[in-house]
Amino acid sequence: MVERLRAGGIADLAVLHAFDAVPRHEFVPEAMRHRAYEDVPLPIGSGQTISSPTIHAISLELAEVDEGDRVLEVGTGSGFQTALLAELGAEVFSIERLPELSARAGEILSRLGYAARLGVGDGGQGLPDHAPFAAIIVGAAAAEAPGALFAQLSEGGRLIVPIGVREQVLYRYVRRGAEFVRERISGARFVPLIEQPLG
Ligand code: SAH
Repeated sequence: MVERLRAGGIADLAVLHAFDAVPRHEFVPEAMRHRAYEDVPLPIGSGQTISSPTIHAISLELAEVDEGDRVLEVGTGSGFQTALLAELGAEVFSIERLPELSARAGEILSRLGYAARLGVGDGGQGLPDHAPFAAIIVGAAAAEAPGALFAQLSEGGRLIVPIGVREQVLYRYVRRGAEFVRERISGARFVPLIEQPLG
């Protein structure tokens, strides 16, 4: 998997090392394990998917995570990217909307010895009490730029977020004082961010 990521243009050694260290098959349901090291998203239950290794690698490279950075992940999902962030030395906060996924990710992460603070809720609101974050990675597509998250970036902080309903684009925003400098990274296909309040 690491060789494929490298061949695909991922150059950040810390990111490649993290992929080498974290066992992706542990985060994939039993029935899908034989495909755990393919470069594809896979179903993880509750209608959700673990993103492809390439998507995680691109997001992490863009996030430029340094040891000790406080990082917010929106959409814990399987917990695999959460583990990658911990492996990079980040202080990880991760929010998941679906309690059953958060609980399962929490079990796997603690079994493997990864420390992360998991919470259940609407990640689109961020975690104002724990802000600012050096990086925020959103793992599901927002219909529009998520205003609440911008305010929770530190100076120089990076927000990686797919935006769009039918056509999605992956963007990176970097905070420069009062400005948020936007870079278009690529077209994207993420599951939608659930934006309705809990029923
Ligand atoms: N990086 C994760 C991504 C999983 S898919 C992985 O690869 O495992 C996106 C996740 O975002 C899903 O688990 C979904 O339930 C969650 N999600 C959707 N809307 C959300 C919201 N408003 N707040 C938090 N999590 C949300």
